[in-house]
Amino acid sequence: MQTPTRAEITEVGPRDGFQAEKSFIPTASKIEFLDRLIDAGVPRIEITSFVSPRAVPQLADAEEVLRGVDRTRGALLAALVPNKRGALRAAEAAIDQMVVFLSASQSHNNRNVNRTIEASLAGFEDVARVAEEANIPVHGAIATAFGCPFEGDVQAAQVAKIAHRYRELGFAGVSLGDTTGMATPPLVAAAVEAIRETAPDLPITLHFHNTRGIGLANVMAGLQLGIDRYESSFGGIGGCPFAPKATGNICTEDLIYLLHEMGVQTGIDLRKLTGIARDVETAVAHDLPGQVMKAGLRLDLHSLDSVRVAEG
Ligand code: ZN
Repeated sequence: MQTPTRAEITEVGPRDGFQAEKSFIPTASKIEFLDRLIDAGVPRIEITSFVSPRAVPQLADAEEVLRGVDRTRGALLAALVPNKRGALRAAEAAIDQMVVFLSASQSHNNRNVNRTIEASLAGFEDVARVAEEANIPVHGAIATAFGCPFEGDVQAAQVAKIAHRYRELGFAGVSLGDTTGMATPPLVAAAVEAIRETAPDLPITLHFHNTRGIGLANVMAGLQLGIDRYESSFGGIGGCPFAPKATGNICTEDLIYLLHEMGVQTGIDLRKLTGIARDVETAVAHDLPGQVMKAGLRLDLHSLDSVRVAEG
């Protein structure tokens, strides 16, 4: 399989990251960050979630954010919709793409959205109908695709079965989410190969977490499999729900740095992105795990006088 020469990056920080913050990020700064991401060349952004404002108060301003953001420059703006009600709101707000999600593991799905996997899939039929009427594509995410914190291993066949249902529902693609950082390169290969067998023409996106430090190693595994779509968050914002001090999403700047050094083009201005990540860190008022945002680019040279030399 050929390593791709170009990859499409989805920035999920405004949704996946901001929803995990204790404090509410003001609507105006959310819009400013989104406009800067678009200006930096990010082609697809998960900007918010049309969930109940009571359930996720951090994203209660979904409509306002979508109204405020610069939509003239062609970035694809996606938002999570949990059910038909959310789909109706998203359609009314004229989102570019709806994202539905379930967990590949039964107990995680029960815990997360309080219903069985079958019930989730049945609900997606309602979402698909609303979306079709509004002529909006739907993207299907699968959480705990590489392992479940309650059940352990998740079989590749189970992930492939859900991807097949997504294809039958007419979805534009599938994302495999490594919700608690349990993916490893062999598991990535197994899931991708299983989906390619059951739903050969369904585009696959990989969404890794760096919980155990091998997020970018999993991206390398994805590249070797020819996967050219990845999701990540600025500064690596968004934690792991079961390990309070562990990191969550892989960091967009670190991912872009790796891709560009590998000769994989993204169309994204990395320097602009590191500036955004540093300002996000200021906005959330705590350290973010991103590394390139702190170290700078590889060829950012330093003056000889700027470092103290040890004697001897
Ligand atoms: Zn995530």
